[in-house]
Amino acid sequence: MLVCLAGVSAHAQTAPKADHHAHLMSPAAARLLNEGAGRGSRRLAGRQKEEPSSASELIAQLDAAGIRRSVAISAAYRLGSPFVHVPREAAAVNAENDWTLHQVQLYRDRLVGFCSVNPLRPYALAAIQYCARIGLRGGLKLHLANADFRFDDPAQVQQLAKVFAAADRLRMPILIHLRTGETWQGTRNVQVFMEKVLPSASHVPIQIAHLGGWGGYDQATDDTFSAFAKVCAEDPDRCRHLYFDIAAVVLSPSFAEAAPGSDERLLWDEQKDFADGPDRLATNLRRIGLSRIVFGTDWSTVTAVHYIDTLRHSLQLSPAELKQIFSNVAPYFPQ
Ligand SMILES: [Zn+2]
Repeated sequence: MLVCLAGVSAHAQTAPKADHHAHLMSPAAARLLNEGAGRGSRRLAGRQKEEPSSASELIAQLDAAGIRRSVAISAAYRLGSPFVHVPREAAAVNAENDWTLHQVQLYRDRLVGFCSVNPLRPYALAAIQYCARIGLRGGLKLHLANADFRFDDPAQVQQLAKVFAAADRLRMPILIHLRTGETWQGTRNVQVFMEKVLPSASHVPIQIAHLGGWGGYDQATDDTFSAFAKVCAEDPDRCRHLYFDIAAVVLSPSFAEAAPGSDERLLWDEQKDFADGPDRLATNLRRIGLSRIVFGTDWSTVTAVHYIDTLRHSLQLSPAELKQIFSNVAPYFPQ
């Protein structure tokens, strides 16, 4: 009986050590996005009304879950999306990265600030250098769907490699959302990424957002994650500095009842006929190695308390395996 109680309380105390994927957004950026919206499609520009999210709100919901540290991603990349119109865009991007730095400085021992930019914009390298100069250099977030990136365009792939090289020179780790709005070919795109882009940044950790997808675990995400698992199994050295965050991958069953047309409902509908999904996900997590998988929420779309609960109930790993993921901390967090 005593042993049993001890087991229960130990489980309750096991919170993730860090949230590796959470977003901030200034009131100014939320206003610009709401005013400039209208040309986007889902997961690209965001169709729902944008609300600002501050460092103090991020910290409050981390505290509620017992999580000490978090990445804090600048929303600047959203302002540089071709799906929105933002006046004086390059200046607005720098201003958002500035605002993010000041937010992160309020919680220096808890938050790691990530600069962000649309890698295809002509000012991309200047914006990254600006971040490095002001001190927003915990990492660089790139969102390829938001940038309307195409893996079948060699010039765009080359430009992405240049941005990787710039971040590498500045020793800024990279968090990249790979999946784009083009007809997705997971296996081929992973090959292009591994051969043409990743070698440009060999000195920094690279974190693949949402296990290579964009939230949920549908067939396209499984194709992508399976391709990574295969490469990493065949040649572990090529994956030596690769991490994968599980942010927004496991959907709460409540998404099934979300309003038709909402992001939640669209994600649910994409994966609902993929009956093997939960099984494939667990298999691939083990195959790629749990030490490469890091916890993340994608806050503010979901809180840490809720996402931890969803993972405990819906992810088909043992409590010990989930505990291992929760205990992983990417090397870009200061020791
Ligand atoms: Zn995100």
